[in-house]
Amino acid sequence: MRRAALAVSLALALPACLPDDGGSDPDPVVIGGDADQGIANPEPEPEEPVDMGAPEWDAEVAPDMAAPVGGESLETVRFDDVEIAAGYTEMLTLDLPDDVQSITIVGVGDPTVFLSVVHLEGPEGQILVAENPPGVTITAFDRQLSPFPGAFKSPNRSATAATGLATLLAPNNPQVEVGPGQWRFQVAALSSFGPTTTAIDLTVYIKRAPAVPERGVLDVHMHFTGSRGWTAESAPDDPDFQAALDRLREFYGEIGIEIGEVTYDDVPERFRAVDSGPQGPGPEALNSTLHEMFALSDYETGLSFFFVDRIGDPMFGGAIGGIAGGTPGPMLEPNTVRSGVAVATELDPNPLSIGHIMGHEGGHFLGLYHTQEFFGGITDQIPDTPEGQAGGDNLMFPTVTAAPAHLTAGQGFVMHMNAAVELVEPAASAQEAAR
Ligand SMILES: [Zn+2]
Repeated sequence: MRRAALAVSLALALPACLPDDGGSDPDPVVIGGDADQGIANPEPEPEEPVDMGAPEWDAEVAPDMAAPVGGESLETVRFDDVEIAAGYTEMLTLDLPDDVQSITIVGVGDPTVFLSVVHLEGPEGQILVAENPPGVTITAFDRQLSPFPGAFKSPNRSATAATGLATLLAPNNPQVEVGPGQWRFQVAALSSFGPTTTAIDLTVYIKRAPAVPERGVLDVHMHFTGSRGWTAESAPDDPDFQAALDRLREFYGEIGIEIGEVTYDDVPERFRAVDSGPQGPGPEALNSTLHEMFALSDYETGLSFFFVDRIGDPMFGGAIGGIAGGTPGPMLEPNTVRSGVAVATELDPNPLSIGHIMGHEGGHFLGLYHTQEFFGGITDQIPDTPEGQAGGDNLMFPTVTAAPAHLTAGQGFVMHMNAAVELVEPAASAQEAAR
């Protein structure tokens, strides 16, 4: 694996979350810039959709099977140094066992290139991700949102256009599922000049359980820049920090995820103010202080939080409260340019608001999208989350609040699917309850 080469850069971005103009939220503090959202403006937008050619169905690559990690419930399959030629890997194959509940794909590649999982197909030809998903019309607007609009509009939404990493959780909504048999997937790469030739190391985490998981444990790793006076030494006994952490416990506890090990580390003070991540592919991605900070996470479990003063510059009347390394993030992969989430503590220093940002960004990292984006009428794919302002009390609505907020059962279903959430005890019944 070529992870060492990645220690410096970071991910994508676009002014993803803009305050709404409806006036119903007079002073929105926006959570999440771009990395957070998985949509980005490609550099030069081609007039025509980039035709990367038909998938090569007969050119399949067999994976190296690796020993299970994390106990019986998690199995890993690695594809090392996979070539991406003229924009695409070959179609990679994956044999899933009878008791598969989910797969989490984490690909680590060139931090200056946009990477995306653009195809995922089951043994019966069921399309979870495709560049031209059945029944979906790709509009000009869609092409402005993402260089891989079909992947974004697929039945299992694939967050597109992230520099350095390709990640996908499937299922990431209760309306799709993965099952046993041979699956195929493909990763695409775009440089600032278009489809590019590069390489990627891929790990697929296969979550196995006799039924849909309903109880899990998530380790959390706290990283302090000195923002708000919090340090690795002070935070364990700081009432404000612990109030924020307790709020995270409440959000996740409601949907059956218990916070496990909590670690405390300091990182250099120069990261108290970080940028909001690269705005596109290209060498400037190597200069992102956000990505440099995320690469400081050494942990191979759970979720890393980084507490900073502020992220980027205030824009459009709002400001960025937090940013996640991806939707989902590269879970279980230390030292990548997106191995964590950043939480800004200056925008709204109320510990309840900071806890809200922690829960929200952690939700992205585990695979949740916003219930409602501020533009384009884009909603998540989860049936039991409210749309529009009605979702203002949902944790994944894109503004910060100290007021009560919650996750739905459908959102819990997605989070339990993530490889970073360790299975506690397989549910013996109600397997279909969340579907
Ligand atoms: Zn967000």
